[in-house]
Parts: sequence; structure tokens; C-alpha cells
Amino acid sequence: MKIDKKKLGNKRKDYLTWDEFFIGIAKLSAGRSKDPSTQVGACIVSDTNRILSIGYNGTPNNFNDDKFPWDREGNSENETKYPYVCHAELNAILNYHGSRSDLKGARIYVDLFPCNECAKAIIQAGISEVVYLSDKYADTPGTQASKLLFKTCGVKCRQLPADGRTIKLSLKPDEKISYLK
Ligand SMILES: [Zn+2]
Repeated sequence: MKIDKKKLGNKRKDYLTWDEFFIGIAKLSAGRSKDPSTQVGACIVSDTNRILSIGYNGTPNNFNDDKFPWDREGNSENETKYPYVCHAELNAILNYHGSRSDLKGARIYVDLFPCNECAKAIIQAGISEVVYLSDKYADTPGTQASKLLFKTCGVKCRQLPADGRTIKLSLKPDEKISYLK
């Protein structure tokens, strides 16, 4: 059988890159969060580009969302969300039901640079690269501690370009994904 060479390689040109796909999954996961102020998603990917796990910031299992203190401020720290909420990165690590050894060498996509608590979990899980979008808390001690931890422990950090494409994802039937930029 002969294939006309002109018919080869006519693939779509605007398909999603792996980075766009996985950060897109992280962002879509963030859409599950019930936190009124901050929605963060995470997606853990193997070195062969298979999705291993996803997570978003939320309440611990069995903690009723409707009885959760979602506020950022209160009379005491324990009246705010901070001591209780599970971050997206930690949830993604703990949601993984396969062998822990699969996480070695994996990368984690997050839309916000990880806090120092999640940084420790990422390191201990054996994840080797953090791919992130926003670094809006770069000046805070927590984020600076995260960066020191990652650097010292050999976890690569890579920020995706801030001028990424805007994707329109319709959930209506027969409407394809489209790009607004
Ligand atoms: Zn965190």
C-alpha cells in the first residue's frame, strides 16, 4: 500500500501541549473547591505523561462543608479555615491509591506555588518537579521556605508563561474546545 505523502502529517496544529493539558486539569480541579476566596487545583503526572492523581483544596473527609469555617479572619485562628483545610497538593498526594514508588520522579502541576507544608509533602512523596502558574505569595516567609526546601532537596521548579492561552471549554453537546486568544 502506498500513502500519498501529501496526506501525511496533517494533524491539528492547535492541540494542547502536555503542560497546557495538565495545568488545565489542575485548574478544572480547582473548580471543585468550595472555598469562597481561594481555589487551587493540583495534578500529579508520571514521567510518561500519565495522570496519577488530582486534588483541590477542601475540607478533610467527613467534615461537613456546610459546618466548615470558610472565613479568612475570626476571633481566633481556630475560627478561620486555615487550621483545617487540606491543600490541593496534599490531597493529590493522599488521593493516590497506587504504589508510593510510582510518585518517584513524577511532576506536580499547580496553579499556585505550594506552601511550605505542601512542599514538605511533595518532597517526601518523591515528586521531582513542581510546575506552577502563579507565584503571588512570593514575598511571604512560607513561600520562601518552600523555595529553600525545594532547592535544598533537589526538586525542580518551573513557572509556566503568564501569557498562556485562554481555552473555552463548553460542556454543551457538540461544542468543541476553542481558544479565545
Ligand atoms: Zn499547601
